[in-house]
Amino acid sequence: MSHATTAAVLITTALAASNGATGAELREPQHPLRRIRAEKLVYEAKSWKGRPPLALLIPLGTATFTLTRETVAGEPQLVLRAHARGGVPGYPLDATITSRLRDADFLQRLSDSHRVKKGYKRRQLRFHERGADYFKHKHCEAPTLCHNPRHLVTQPDGSKAHCRQFDTCENLDHFVWSLRYRHRSGTRMHDLLGALYLSRAFHVEVGGPVHSMRVVNARDIWDVQIHAEKEETVRVPAGRIRCIRIRLKQVPVNEHAQRDEFEGPFGLHGDIVLYADKETKQAVLVRGRVKLGATFQVEVALRERSVELLPPAPRPAR
Ligand SMILES: [Zn+2]
Ligand SMILES: [Zn+2]
Repeated sequence: MSHATTAAVLITTALAASNGATGAELREPQHPLRRIRAEKLVYEAKSWKGRPPLALLIPLGTATFTLTRETVAGEPQLVLRAHARGGVPGYPLDATITSRLRDADFLQRLSDSHRVKKGYKRRQLRFHERGADYFKHKHCEAPTLCHNPRHLVTQPDGSKAHCRQFDTCENLDHFVWSLRYRHRSGTRMHDLLGALYLSRAFHVEVGGPVHSMRVVNARDIWDVQIHAEKEETVRVPAGRIRCIRIRLKQVPVNEHAQRDEFEGPFGLHGDIVLYADKETKQAVLVRGRVKLGATFQVEVALRERSVELLPPAPRPAR
């Protein structure tokens, strides 16, 4: 099934979880994410109409990716955030995806997708040892069963009654988290954003083995394969960067995953090509399609990046 959320375009997330041989790489103590205290990557997205030299450039906005560390209820976590802003006239976009991973082993804890424009839409995947539960934030639709006083509105005659404007009401006080689907799987899964970061541990090289991660998005589960095609130096606003050109191939894992509906990094669809910095594995340039009312061919390019490293860990005493 398709998610309009998808419109949460520039945003989202990319490769994902792991199984088999790749699991070890994701957990290895030398994982590149272990060295990072904080990181910020800023991207700009553009599309164009027509062909050069008459092509009309259409700026679509920016996407800002941050990695920070937080302790939640005593548990150190990595917090990944992708915030997209922009859109086109008539189709504004403002959406954030937040992915929380347990620092100790990168186990996915939460994936939260929160769109403000166009139209409020929020959903979560809450992960646990038996899999993950998919929730949507919806207007309460149980006026006869619900006793939440915050859902009451004043009627024309002055009395109070449960709000029944299920489809049009925008009062978030009336919204509740509604369980939509239970994923039950012992296989390690991540949201796309988590997968995008965790895949930095893969030893991706042209002619090398194909790595794969298991990604969950709403009801869909995919195995996302990383095919390294060639090395190439690309020029983006952040500079000239030596990259590996990667083609993402997605294999549906459950019955909900429809091949043409896969939503890749930055909310991109279609044939997705990603240039990853050969050194850091950060995404540098990504091409695909996006739906903002109409469908656009999109290029997302790295504009600036900053990283704050942790001091090297002391060697354990013998
Ligand atoms: Zn209610
Ligand atoms: Zn309401």
